[in-house]
Amino acid sequence: MNIAPANAISVAPTAPGWEVSFNFADGEDIVRPVIGWATVATSRDESGETTTSIEPAFVWLHKVWTETDVREHTPGALRFELRASADAISGAPAPGRRTFHRARGWTLTEPGAAEHCTSNHDRELAGVPACPNLAVWKVVELHDVGATISFWCDEDLPLSLNA
Ligand SMILES: [Zn+2]
Repeated sequence: MNIAPANAISVAPTAPGWEVSFNFADGEDIVRPVIGWATVATSRDESGETTTSIEPAFVWLHKVWTETDVREHTPGALRFELRASADAISGAPAPGRRTFHRARGWTLTEPGAAEHCTSNHDRELAGVPACPNLAVWKVVELHDVGATISFWCDEDLPLSLNA
């Protein structure tokens, strides 16, 4: 399958309870309920390997969008936020955590450069050398507000994250 960057590859439905908000300069907030979680192609390297990320999908102007779509078609969009919606006080089940493995490692923040093992943060605090292994695991954790993405080598992936 030949996928152009910024295309959504698939969308998984979500329970109610999440919303995105964004705005344009001088405009008021646009707030839309999240209707699903889209897998979006973010980049593609020379070998054709595609990097993906998970983004909330929502309806706006009679069409389904992701943040990447909006940024591509309406460049003035500002300040995207994913958050629990106000009517979700009863607590919608969080979409939780997704763990992905890629043998060649991940490039997300810097095209072409492999992500470093997230254990390096603790290693640095402990004063020990940086992790020399390739970070082959990507863990995406969705919280009430926003998401955390971490990268781990085989040895450092915390057991609690590989569930
Ligand atoms: Zn490591």
